[in-house]
Amino acid sequence: MEHNATHDYLTGLPNRRLFKSKLTERLCHPSSDSLAVLMLDIDDFKSINDTFGHDIGDAVIVEFGKKVSQYLGDNDIVARLGGDEFIVLLYSISYAEKAEQFANNIKEVMKKPWGGLEIGNIDVTTSIGITITNSEDNKDAFQLMKQADIALYEAKNDGKNGFYIYQDDTV
Ligand code: GH3
Ligand code: MG
Repeated sequence: MEHNATHDYLTGLPNRRLFKSKLTERLCHPSSDSLAVLMLDIDDFKSINDTFGHDIGDAVIVEFGKKVSQYLGDNDIVARLGGDEFIVLLYSISYAEKAEQFANNIKEVMKKPWGGLEIGNIDVTTSIGITITNSEDNKDAFQLMKQADIALYEAKNDGKNGFYIYQDDTV
């Protein structure tokens, strides 16, 4: 019962609710470290559903979760927000470059095989919105998730298959 309320039925990953409470927990125990929240959304996922069917679409979502999970450290978290949208908390990152490195790792792993799925050789790509904060910013989980979402929108607008880092003047 408790597991169903906090985890996504398809991927078994934490859901939005659990992610938000874990992020809040981390923000309540401020250290000198900074952290990054990254929102990821598969590009043109509807065409995967349309071309290969909903079941293959589901399998791509599950595999995408596994691909992202490969790059998580011990204290990092990935959750599925719904549809083809995922969110990651990178904990104890000190430099924006590390978030960029993570985004570039994801870009590369998207080109690798999809767990034997029959999706031919079509390119599946993802866009990533990133926000980076430290304890002095006093941002809460809601604000950080909102900023990552705004940055994701910018990444989509920039032509997809890339990342965008939220700046305070990003609207
Ligand atoms: P964009 O590049 O802008 O991200 O466009 P998109 O085609 O990826 O569409 P978008 O991210 O806006 O919407 C995701 C679509 O995923 C909407 C819905 O048709 C489909 N979807 C939502 N949940 C599921 C699911 O559980 N399984 C499958 N197979 N498809 C889903
Ligand atoms: Mg999408």
